[in-house]
Amino acid sequence: MSHVKGLKCRECGRSYAKAPIYVCEFCFGSLEVVYDYEAIGKTLTRETIASRSPSLWRYRELLPIDGEPTVGLYSGFTPLVAADNLARELGLKEVYVKDDANCHPTLSFKDRVVAVALSKAKEFGFDTVACASTGNLANSVAAHAAQAGLKRVVFIPADLEIGKVIGSLIYDPQVVAVEGNYDQVNRLCSEIASKYTWGFVNINLRPYYAEGSKTIAFEVAEQLGWRTPDHIVVPAASGSLSTKVWKGFSELDKLGLISRARVKVHVAQAEGCSPIVQAWKSGRDVIKPVVPKTIAKSLAIGNPADGYYAIDMLRASGGDAEAVTDDEIVDAIKLLARTEGIFAETAGGVTVAVARKLALAGKIGRNESLVICVTGNGLKTQEAVAGKIGEPIHIRPNLAAFEAALEKKTAGVG
Ligand SMILES: *Cc1c(COP(=O)(O)O)cnc(C)c1O
Ligand SMILES: [Zn+2]
Repeated sequence: MSHVKGLKCRECGRSYAKAPIYVCEFCFGSLEVVYDYEAIGKTLTRETIASRSPSLWRYRELLPIDGEPTVGLYSGFTPLVAADNLARELGLKEVYVKDDANCHPTLSFKDRVVAVALSKAKEFGFDTVACASTGNLANSVAAHAAQAGLKRVVFIPADLEIGKVIGSLIYDPQVVAVEGNYDQVNRLCSEIASKYTWGFVNINLRPYYAEGSKTIAFEVAEQLGWRTPDHIVVPAASGSLSTKVWKGFSELDKLGLISRARVKVHVAQAEGCSPIVQAWKSGRDVIKPVVPKTIAKSLAIGNPADGYYAIDMLRASGGDAEAVTDDEIVDAIKLLARTEGIFAETAGGVTVAVARKLALAGKIGRNESLVICVTGNGLKTQEAVAGKIGEPIHIRPNLAAFEAALEKKTAGVG
């Protein structure tokens, strides 16, 4: 059943057998999963996919597991919302929100990558799984490992939003709050991963984990009737998601499931942590690490592992990269809520604000179609908007009090 040939170094092209490894022994390049597309092309059709259950596993030939999926059986196949109200505000005709924030068990797109990583961890026989996380990944690993009966250890920066900390603790993992930023957490975890035989979903399982992100592209294409949008705006932390969205569209193209992958994939970051955008704008291939300072904590990776590949992807897809300020992020969160009734976390504010910026600059044409990825839920990052939205009116429990308050309100007083 498996169409996975093995792993391959993205730099020197050396092949490796399927194993929980992530770097090339010869050149330290990162490893990527290789599929037998010829074999997949013989059996995978639009009809086969349509006949399967509405989860990311409907594309299982293009996911790196050998047997049946065992974790995250209901993740993916999230709504592609026709966002007509938002479109009007942006001055565009055809805008969709790919809403990964509301229909996932832990309310973020990380439920995709974790479904794949933990199904693979079980195939490899790990009894403990772990991750270095900016918050959402920890939530998802903790929840899915609980369900899968795996021991779980999640590492986070100590200054995360309370919603993200509780969103992990509730599933009873060991939460390790590290006094440092994500990049320091990640460095520590790489050391731990080389010493303990744990399945770190975004370290030694990273080649498998990353493949889960392709399913956003598969779904968007299928939901649009097997075509690509003209533009898609994707948030970037490590840059992995953005590169895999492009890989997903390219695979559909290769398999003849869409006519041509002619979608511009745009990268969105917060100004307070925009190493990929800065490299892109200055025409550099090399990413200069930064120290993150932004309310978009889920995207606060100063030294992005896939930054170089994100630049490569931008060139290949013809996309652009843009960054927005924390104020623009908050405005965009409010705009999305006010127009579409979707409460996004800060990362969603980043993509909506960047979409607006690209539309204003004429980089997204009025008659072109646009998909905006909303990857996380606003209830987890309430700190970002607290004090910047309306307030309840307080009244005593009687009609007169209500009407007095109402009068005051319409008179523009309270
Ligand atoms: C992890 C995450 C991303 C993207 O992460 P990459 O490391 O670039 O793949 C985007 N949005 C949210 C909300 C996330 O938690
Ligand atoms: Zn190599």
